Amino acid sequence: MTDTKVETRQFQAETRKVLDIVINSLYTERDIFVRELVSNAADALEKYRHISLTEKPEFDKDVPLEINIDCDAKRHRLTITDTGIGMTREELETNLGTIAHSGSGKFLEELAEAAKKDINLIGQFGVGFYSVFMVAKRVRVQTRSWDGSEGHEWESDGAGTYTIRECPGLHRGTKIIIELKDDAEDYANKFTIERIIKQYSNFVPFPIKVDGKTV
Ligand code: ADP
Ligand code: MG
Repeated sequence: MTDTKVETRQFQAETRKVLDIVINSLYTERDIFVRELVSNAADALEKYRHISLTEKPEFDKDVPLEINIDCDAKRHRLTITDTGIGMTREELETNLGTIAHSGSGKFLEELAEAAKKDINLIGQFGVGFYSVFMVAKRVRVQTRSWDGSEGHEWESDGAGTYTIRECPGLHRGTKIIIELKDDAEDYANKFTIERIIKQYSNFVPFPIKVDGKTV
């Protein structure tokens, strides 16, 4: 992998606004980032299940449909992996670089309406992927589309820019690698993650494994 293949991009102004709100106002509801990432993983698995009925994909077709969460307390790292539909390079760019197609656009609208209400209500909205930056110093998203095209890695510290580079050797689906902030280290504790999953992600219709064990 050479550096000539790394592209650095700016987040949209709207995206930066969401990031700013999420990082600075949602502080008391940090648990919800797990709900948001697990719900994205479940959506991606559902999309793959749907597409596999009509398109009969060959690539990685025997990989089981599931969500795996790995807690690395030593390295202050949390990794959420799904074997869902994955993203092509273009999809990665559109879906994580802009808020046009994400829940975050709606989040901004609802936020404007709720401006006079209790800030604690915000957690009820679908904040979306960017909620991960409440707890993350740095996030890497490694993903490979169901179509078998080359995989890519998206990386950001949530501060204004992100990079995208090729990432060979991936399986179908998406891996979110979260380097936790110093004050968010508890999210690398598997009991914490299990508690949050039981609280928010009870009805996800795919197996969720934490450190290899089904929750
Ligand atoms: P929403 O889920 O409401 O669309 P998000 O901000 O949570 O908004 O996610 C933005 C987009 O990024 C999703 O619509 C999806 O296209 C893409 N995405 C996020 N996570 C995944 C994933 N695990 N697998 C595939 N695509 C994903
Ligand atoms: Mg979502």
